[in-house]
Formats: sequence, C-alpha cells, structure tokens
Amino acid sequence: MTSKEIFAKLHEVAFNPKQQLNQYLADGKKVVLVTYYTPNEIIHSMGLVPMGVWGADIQLNQSKKYFPAFICSIMQSILELGINGTYKGASALVVPSLCDSLKCIGQNWKYAVKDIPFIPMSYPQNRKPDYGKRFTKAGYERVISDLEAITGAHFSDDNLRVSNHIYNEHNAVMREFAEVASEYEVSAQERSDVFKSAWFMLPEEHTTLVKELIERLKEGPKDSRKVRVLVSGILADAPQLLELFEKYGIKVAFDDVCDESRQYKKDVPETIQNPMDGLVEKFCSMDDDTLLYDADKKRVDYIVTEAQKHHAEGVIVLMTKFCDPEEFDYVPIKRACEKAGLHQVNIEVDRQMVNYEQAATQLEAFSELF
Ligand code: SF4
Repeated sequence: MTSKEIFAKLHEVAFNPKQQLNQYLADGKKVVLVTYYTPNEIIHSMGLVPMGVWGADIQLNQSKKYFPAFICSIMQSILELGINGTYKGASALVVPSLCDSLKCIGQNWKYAVKDIPFIPMSYPQNRKPDYGKRFTKAGYERVISDLEAITGAHFSDDNLRVSNHIYNEHNAVMREFAEVASEYEVSAQERSDVFKSAWFMLPEEHTTLVKELIERLKEGPKDSRKVRVLVSGILADAPQLLELFEKYGIKVAFDDVCDESRQYKKDVPETIQNPMDGLVEKFCSMDDDTLLYDADKKRVDYIVTEAQKHHAEGVIVLMTKFCDPEEFDYVPIKRACEKAGLHQVNIEVDRQMVNYEQAATQLEAFSELF
C-alpha cells in the first residue's frame, strides 16, 4: 500500500470506532472499553479487545443530568455516548481514578448505563516505593477478578507475557512513527489519525500497518516547514483545529499529548520474570505526566527538552476546558518556555467546540512569530 492508502485506512478507523466495535463483536470477540492508563495488556491477554474511549465532539444532553456543567467535556461526552447506546455490545468499562473527574464517572455510569458494567481501578499517588508497587499490583488483580466474573474470560501469566511483548512492539513502532512524522511530510490530521486509530484496533493489527507506513514515509520528501511546534495537552484530535495547523503552516514536530505519545513512553521490562510484576514496573516507572504525581514538576523540563530535541521553536498548549491537572501545570510550562526562548501559546479546547475563530486568530498570530 502507498502511504496515502495507509493513512486513508487509519483515518477511516479513527473516524468510525463504532464500525470497529461492531466488527470485533461480529467476529465473536468481547470488547472492553478503556481510557487513560488502563492495563490494556491484561485485557488483551484474556482474549478481550481493549477499545479506547475519549469522548467525542457531540452535543451533550442527557449527561448533564449526572454531571455539573463545570466538569471536562471528555468525561461528559463519554457518559453521553454510554447513555445514547454508542458503546452497545461492550462488556465493561475500565477507568482508573487518576483525577477528580475520572474518580466520579463511575458512580454516574452505574446509574446511567446499566447494560455495561463499570470496573473501577485505583493507582497510588506514590508509585515508586515498594508499597506503591504492591498497591498497583493489587489494583490490577482486582481488575482481573472483575473481568473474569463479567466476561467469563481467564487470566494466565503465560498469556500476559505474550501480550506484554505485543504491546512493547506496538510502543516501539509508535515511538518510531513520532520520529519519522517529525522529519517527513505528514499533516497534523494524518499524524492524529495514526495515534487515534491505535485506540480502536488490536495492537498487533495496528503495528503491522504503522510499520509499513513508516517504510513508505521514509521514501517520501522531508518536511521543510519552519514553524515547528511541540503540542501538549490531553487531546489534539479536533479536525477543525488540525486544519488550522495546515492553514498556518504549523508542523507538529513532537507531542506531549495524553492519548498520543504519552501512551508509548514506557515498555514492560521483559527481563522481569513475572509478567505481572513487569507490568506494574511499567506503570510505576512512568513520569513527566500531568496525571501522575510529580512534586518537582519534571514534566515541564521534559516538554522543553523534547521541543529542543525535535527542533521545535514553539509549544502549543491545548488546554482542555475544566481540566484542573493541566491548568495547574500551565504556569510552570509557560515560564520554562520563556526561559528557554520557546514561543508558546495556550489554546482552550473543548469537546463541544463549534467555533474555532479564536483559535484561528491565536494560531495565525503565533505562526507569525517564527
Ligand atoms: S485529566 Fe483533565 S481532561 Fe482528563 S478526565 Fe481529568 S479533568 Fe478531564
């Protein structure tokens, strides 16, 4: 396939998750909905299909009965999609309680979406000490026992070892794609489609396509745009926003986006004999993330370092409205960028955004700084 054909296929997946869900169900598979940092390796190892939920750009109606207006639209739209039947056929929803909004979706989900069981899970704030690792492992064991009870699937260490390897391979391919997309001609929409489609496909299927894509891209022209930026935020997938990147000649040189590169930074150390301990180690070694306790705000240095490493002279912070964790990090990011001589701009985004005029003005002005 050509790169354009592969991009078209991934675009189709990224924009039709419902079709993917129905196809997996028609193939006799059970699908488990996941988000943020769920242990997808465990779900996959049990023969289930982990499928991402990050909400959608839709009008919110029924979810407003359950959530206050000042909660992020990602949580609101996940609940709205649950209520309106978009996830019908899924066996369960697993959500880690990594922020206040994630903590409270479960109570609402249980009342509003009766046909899809909710599986809660907790991660420790202090994930580095041994007690943090034991807590993480206990959380994973709880997810396994809930999944076994709900789906009838069984867990085994041997299968987890295989799934850990499959996910590590996918992580490596996604990291390589991010580097290749930084160097070669890839539009913001194409880049987003590759990351987004990963949430709706089995990792082994996605790995095969992205590997081929990387080879095709390396045969193509290098990107010569001079407005190179690092994009940071929870999500960066709104097509209208990505169109503006193209309009103003802005190249995404790298990202610190939660549903994109942040997912692929760490692998399960396969040298650890027990695959569950390896998976625990993966989570506990994660850093530089808004949602993970970081007393020294090392994420700020990470953003500056990655921007410089990828020859980006600017940082675009896409601030999800009502996202407290991201809002708290913004001031240190702004200061660090100024100190490092990086241009930066903060653009508020929302799952219900219909008017991108303000974002257009900000991006136009920002692109003229380079
Ligand atoms: S991290 Fe932010 S965007 Fe994500 S669920 Fe929490 S408040 Fe919402």
